[in-house]
This record gives sequence, C-alpha cells and structure tokens, in this order.
Amino acid sequence: MRGWLPATCKAVERALRRPCDAPASPSGSTDETPAPQRSGSPGITPRRRSSWSIALSPERAAPPRRVTRFPPCVALFALLVAAACAGDSFPPSGVGTLPHAITFGRDTLVVAPGATAHLTPHIGTTPVTGALSWSTTNAAVAQISPDNDVIAVAPGITTITASTTTSNGLTQGTLIVRVADTVRLGEFRSPLAQSVPVVSVFDHDLPFEFADTNGYLLSFWNEKLSGIDGHNGYDWPVPTGTPVLAAAAGVVTFAQLETPFSCPILGNAMVAGMWVLVAHGLSTGQAVVTEYGHLSRIDVQYGQRIAAGQQLGLSGSTGCSTGPHLHFSAFAGSPADARPPIVMDPYGWQSTAPDPWAQVRVGTASTALWSSSNAPPIYKEFLSSGSVGTTAPVVIARVHYMGVDDDHHPNNEFIEVTANPSVGDALLTGITLVNNRDERFTFPSGSILPAGQSLRVFSGAGTNSATALYWGRTTPAWDDIADCARLFDANGALLFQFSWFTTCGSTADRAAAVPMRAMDVESPMAGERLRVRPRPD
Ligand SMILES: [Zn+2]
Repeated sequence: MRGWLPATCKAVERALRRPCDAPASPSGSTDETPAPQRSGSPGITPRRRSSWSIALSPERAAPPRRVTRFPPCVALFALLVAAACAGDSFPPSGVGTLPHAITFGRDTLVVAPGATAHLTPHIGTTPVTGALSWSTTNAAVAQISPDNDVIAVAPGITTITASTTTSNGLTQGTLIVRVADTVRLGEFRSPLAQSVPVVSVFDHDLPFEFADTNGYLLSFWNEKLSGIDGHNGYDWPVPTGTPVLAAAAGVVTFAQLETPFSCPILGNAMVAGMWVLVAHGLSTGQAVVTEYGHLSRIDVQYGQRIAAGQQLGLSGSTGCSTGPHLHFSAFAGSPADARPPIVMDPYGWQSTAPDPWAQVRVGTASTALWSSSNAPPIYKEFLSSGSVGTTAPVVIARVHYMGVDDDHHPNNEFIEVTANPSVGDALLTGITLVNNRDERFTFPSGSILPAGQSLRVFSGAGTNSATALYWGRTTPAWDDIADCARLFDANGALLFQFSWFTTCGSTADRAAAVPMRAMDVESPMAGERLRVRPRPD
C-alpha cells in the first residue's frame, strides 16, 4: 500500500502535477503515476532528499530509495516538494547529490547472478563519454567492465563507485547493486502457511492506490471485483503474529519502517508500516522484488540472504491499515532498460483480452511467479455460525462465493451445507438452494445427509457423490459482490439463509450494495506494539 515515492509527498506531488498536465486521460489514471526512468536520462533526483528518518537502529543499513522521475513540468515542483518533505536526520546519500556528480538514472540496481546491466553515466544532463574509473566494495558480488556494464557475480549487495576528473576536480557517483539468488518461475511459493480468503487483489485497471477511482479491481482473469481501488498487490487477512514467509530465496533489500505518510483510510493520519522487501534473480537475467507489508515484527535485516520459505517476520497492521493482514506485492525489475522495479501481478495475466496494466506507458506485463500448486489460492468465502440457534434440519455452513474465473469455471464456487447435528440425519428430498435472483437447485430425491456431516453444492457440472453435488450451471450461481443463499423445505418454508452485503430477497438491494469489504472497514489496531529484532551484531 504505497508507492515508490515517499508517500508523504505523494498527494502534494499529485496536486502540483495537475495544472501541468494535459486534460486527464480517458482512463483518468495514467497521469497519476510517475513516469518511469529511461536509460540514459538520469533526470531529477528528489529521492536523494527524501526522508527515511525513522530508521529504527542507527547502524541499520540505508534503505533503498523510492526511485521516481518526474515529467519536466513538475521537476521544479518535485524538487520543492522533496525539499518540503525532506527529513532532517537521514545521512546524506553520497556524492550523487552534488550538482556535478555522476548519476546513473537510478541509485540502486537489482540483478540476477550472471546478468549484466549497462549503465549510462551522466554529469548533470550530459552523458559521460570519456573513460571512468570504477571501484566496487565487493568484487565477489559485482564488477564493472570498462564499457560501463555491471556484471553480477554472486548474491549479495555491493556499492560501486565511478570516478573521473573534470574542471571541477574529482567527480564521483555511486550505485548500490543487489545481486539476488536465482529462482525459476514457478518456484515462488505462498508467503503464508495457511490459505485464507483474499480481501483485495491486484488491480490491473490500474494499480494506483488512492488515485484510481474507477470503482473496481480488475483481477488477473479479467473480472471486476470489489476491494481497495487501485490495489497494487494482494491482501490476506491473518491474525497479528502470523509467520510471514519468503516467497523464494533472495536478498533482503528493505527491512524496517517505511517513510511516514498521510493515510487516506485513517483520516490522513501520519503512519509508517513495517515492510520487508526481498530481491530475487530470475534465470532470464531479470529480477523480481517481493514485498511484505504491515508487519508487526521483522526478523531479517538489510542485505541478508534468505532461503525460500524462511520467516521474514510476523504479520500485523502497521502503517496504512485498519486491520491485521498481510499485504503482498511483486515488482518486475528490468536492468536492461534501467527502469526501476515496476509493480506487477505475481499471478500474471490470465486472459486473452489485453492487460490494461501492460498497455499503459508506465505499466508492465505481469509474470506468473508461482506454479498453480505453489500459489496462494484466490477465493472469497464466509463461514456462517451454522446450526447455532436453529432447528432447521440442514443449514448453510460456508459460502465460497468467488473463485478464480468462476464466470468460466462455475465449480470454483460452492455452498457447503451441514446436517444440523441437534436435529439428526437430514432427508434432502424436496429441499432447494436459492440465490437472490430466485434461481434454485433442488437436492436429489432420497438423499440423506448424516447428522453433522457436510456436502458441497458446486455451481457447475459434475458427478454427484456423498460429499459433492453439482448444480450443472454454465454460469456462476453466486454474485461476487453481494448475494443471499437460502434453503427452503419441500413445502416452500424457509429453513436457513445467509447473505453477504445485501438483503435477502431484494435484488434491488443487491444491485445497490456497496461492496466495502477491504481492510478499511475494520477497526484500527489500537496500541499494537512495534517490535524490530535488533541486529545480532
Ligand atoms: Zn494491501
């Protein structure tokens, strides 16, 4: 839930940008995201003035900067904003801030072992054409060729420095290079040990939180869902203290509180969450960064190499969050064209239609990082309190009302019914299951559900068994936004109902339902203690 700019400045920067821009694009959104950096154009570097002033321990290594470049019309504003937002305690980030320093268009680089990334050094706006002398703090991690290519050697972090002598004297510039462990696509795994319903998915149209206002999230299977508009990752609600696991082997590139910023869903309160970022190299030479947010405790430190599945910390609700959950995002690194990492969908894009996020200038194509067996399952469901307080022979125990692409795979949704144990075995003859559009499924005649046992009614086609019945539909039965599931007996008497975000029996209410079911409808965690494990050294 944040961008690559210090979020404190984001709203100001957006506000200032407006007058400079042409009328908003039809989608109303592409002008809300900073332009990417392009190779060979180091540009304005307000990031060097940005504040990371609440590093928890003074010896903690410098966090990665949020790399952003502004269109020319906002460059001056950006500098002013950066100055206004600059903190006072973060140490200067090196000679790169001097007017005649060497810059590379970015101040960090994530790259896979064996890969190379060409640098285009500038002094001011002028490309450096003469030879530079290079040094690296760790040649075992990365080296530099005379042609200004960074050659990644082995996982780790190093700082490389370019030097030359001009009429102003010795001029230098530095670049942090992070070489990450190589991971193959499909090997990424869920950051949680348990599967839980998703609250917000990645919004392919478009992932600009607090700026995208089209009213929906476009899922990776090209379906409009509810959630936090413009969400740039996945939110899974889990209790505070749930272990958060590395999706793959890699190098920790950030492990601390983020820059405080004004949180729109908390009344614009200034907040800072605990985040961990891990860089992974791909065998293609590309790099991927995974991000784990709102943690309550961090168990790793900057620069540390970690194994797949290693515990990074514990989940929480720190920062711009109103309830305990894990926020997970993935960023596509692209050393070839020197763009900073761009957020993408770790599930890829699974539709034949064009991906809106791959179409816009500042976007990128999404790569599926995990295999289907390693991916966190994507679904939305509710459990009901079941038989408590009812004398109905059969009750609805679970509504699994959204699965991946249930428009085309209706069996990805189901209703689970249980025979009320306080009543006994349930004869299902004549009982119907009805949605809010009055479409109904009739249980097979003569079937008996033993007391306390459950069976699932899947929406699509299949062969009935003792634990699974099939409605036989080619379309979903349950609305992904709001619906009501009801059970009637053979005489038409209502046995049990369970609704989500609507009133049962009222399709008008269902249509009007406001699908607020993200973390921003829950109460803020009060007094959650922030804990960061001290560095062992
Ligand atoms: Zn989130």
